[in-house]
Amino acid sequence: MRVGIGHDTHRLAEGRPLILGGIRVEHARGLVGHSDADVVLHAVTDALLGAAGLGDIGDAYPDTEPAWRDCESSLFLRETLKRLNQAGWRPVNLDVIIFAQEPKLGPVKAAIRDRLAELLRLEPGCVNVKAKTGEKVGAIGRAEAIGCQAVVLIEQ
Ligand code: MG
Repeated sequence: MRVGIGHDTHRLAEGRPLILGGIRVEHARGLVGHSDADVVLHAVTDALLGAAGLGDIGDAYPDTEPAWRDCESSLFLRETLKRLNQAGWRPVNLDVIIFAQEPKLGPVKAAIRDRLAELLRLEPGCVNVKAKTGEKVGAIGRAEAIGCQAVVLIEQ
């Protein structure tokens, strides 16, 4: 068994859809990035790459690649899982914290968990999604950005 950690932050801006864990969340602003800027899937992908000793998402999927402009980040996660499977690894459980002052994520936490479980081919009980505000402190607390941390366990 091996463990991996992932972290990501993206800036909020008007004129972008807000996608968290592959789920479209109703909000006046969305996250800015080269892809769909799904901060949750980026952190989870990085955790999986880390657990398997395969580097990081920036090396694997550089933001200079035109093919990934505005693409769904589930693409990165699916391809990463394929790489893990080829190396004989599969996920055991996933724990995620989303840091967002707004919008309130309580109503969408279960949908994000179910989507993550589906993408990782895990039972929903093996995936946990927590949401925290930034207590109005720092960039996240001022609702300028959303962050995410993920920890994943994998086994041979
Ligand atoms: Mg990112």
